Amino acid sequence: MRALTVKPEQQGSLELVEMDEPAPAEGELLVDAIALGVCGTDRELANGEYGWAPEGSDRLVIGHESLGRVREAPEGSGFASGDLVVGIVRRPDPVPCGACARGLFDNCRNGEYTERGIKEIHGYGSEAWVVESDYAIKLDPALTEVGVLMEPMSVLAKAWEQVDKVGGRSWFEPKSVLVTGAGPIGLLAALVGAQRGLDVHVLDRNTEGPKPKLVKALGATYHTDGLAKAIEGTEPDIVIEATGANALVLEAMAATGAYGVTCLTGVSPAGRTIDVDAGALNRELVLENDVVVGSVNANHSHFNKAAEYLLEADHDWLKGLITRRVALEDYEQAFGKSSGDEVKVVIDLES
Ligand SMILES: [Zn+2]
Ligand SMILES: [Zn+2]
Repeated sequence: MRALTVKPEQQGSLELVEMDEPAPAEGELLVDAIALGVCGTDRELANGEYGWAPEGSDRLVIGHESLGRVREAPEGSGFASGDLVVGIVRRPDPVPCGACARGLFDNCRNGEYTERGIKEIHGYGSEAWVVESDYAIKLDPALTEVGVLMEPMSVLAKAWEQVDKVGGRSWFEPKSVLVTGAGPIGLLAALVGAQRGLDVHVLDRNTEGPKPKLVKALGATYHTDGLAKAIEGTEPDIVIEATGANALVLEAMAATGAYGVTCLTGVSPAGRTIDVDAGALNRELVLENDVVVGSVNANHSHFNKAAEYLLEADHDWLKGLITRRVALEDYEQAFGKSSGDEVKVVIDLES
């Protein structure tokens, strides 16, 4: 079978290689891949910025946004040949820490967790893969064309859960949400906001392409004139930040109304400094009982919730998020610099 691999921390090492098909161990499913989503993490792996190969291997099969069809399932696993499945990305650390011991590995404390396609375990970027049946999520067949959005959706399922938990410390009936960034994460954040009946605002830079249309189709408002304009007249109860752009992250923290929750989901590059009025930001947070919460990764409950969110959504709208599909042999096209109006690129793995 063919597999998309990198030599971790080696720039330009992205390569399609021929590998033996994995043999399922006890309790594992053998899965024929359907599609693989590509995101910023994969581009960073391809650029050699980080990544860890499994022990005894110099290459890592990348890919964490999976979708496949079960070829073989063990008796009593709850899965059968033909089932549509997605694999969970992270595995608990071996110690395990208190969070991992309770299945909350998305909040691992010691950093010794492993991740499919990123950290010490091969990913889902191959024509066939195996997955432990208790780290596989079965999807409704109605999600065949959009199920590849499960992993990014799971990240948002966690982010919204965090917002609810933080808000739940007092009376919390939010009416509005501002989402910064209209990439896959931002648009999926907006989708959940719309499903909850909130007044949804999305801020991005692109004035053309699919993003404004996708936002409008949710009944949400699309803004391109900066954050101050986007919150004019209505300070949002919730901000979900999905750009990681330094200046915008700081603005987003101060953008909410009283008792606001800002959830940061984008990762900023370190080492770039900007001037900030720390006193004003402190006053805003304290005097409004605001909270800023970071959120990353997802556990079983978030993947299960993601499947619900996707099933409930308009599937044509979800299809609109997949702005490009490339064949496996054309994988390089999925890793080039993407244009501003691109949302999600998917590699077709079905042979
Ligand atoms: Zn990703
Ligand atoms: Zn842990």
